Amino acid sequence: MADCIFCKLANGEIPTNMIYQDEKVACFADVNPQAPVHVLVVPKCHIESADGIDESNSDAVKAIFEAIPKIAKLLHVENNYRLINNCGEGVGQTVKHLHFHLLSGLDAMKERLC
Ligand code: AMP
Ligand code: ZN
Repeated sequence: MADCIFCKLANGEIPTNMIYQDEKVACFADVNPQAPVHVLVVPKCHIESADGIDESNSDAVKAIFEAIPKIAKLLHVENNYRLINNCGEGVGQTVKHLHFHLLSGLDAMKERLC
């Protein structure tokens, strides 16, 4: 999607510190971290939110969940992280491209949802 910042980051149009990527998935640091480890795992294709997942794009979601354990290992946080997805402005979704927050170092965010 033309004006989507996460499409541009995920597909390399805007340079970022890419932590992991494969054909369908990108992972980069959150610009405003809420925990010592805070990265975003996103599909390279544009999906607006969890409500936009359907049979035409769920392969990207499958790829995300296959990538997450690899990312956790790369970041040395396996068995010690939290995944958060906000679906809709009412619960705090600010970027309308599906993304999963992966957070670790939970002492720093014990009282936060994200
Ligand atoms: P959400 O509130 O669930 O939509 O999360 C959006 C997240 O994207 C926030 O945690 C922001 O800090 C993060 N964010 C926004 N713009 C960028 C960017 N250019 N690079 C990395 N993270 C970003
Ligand atoms: Zn997008």
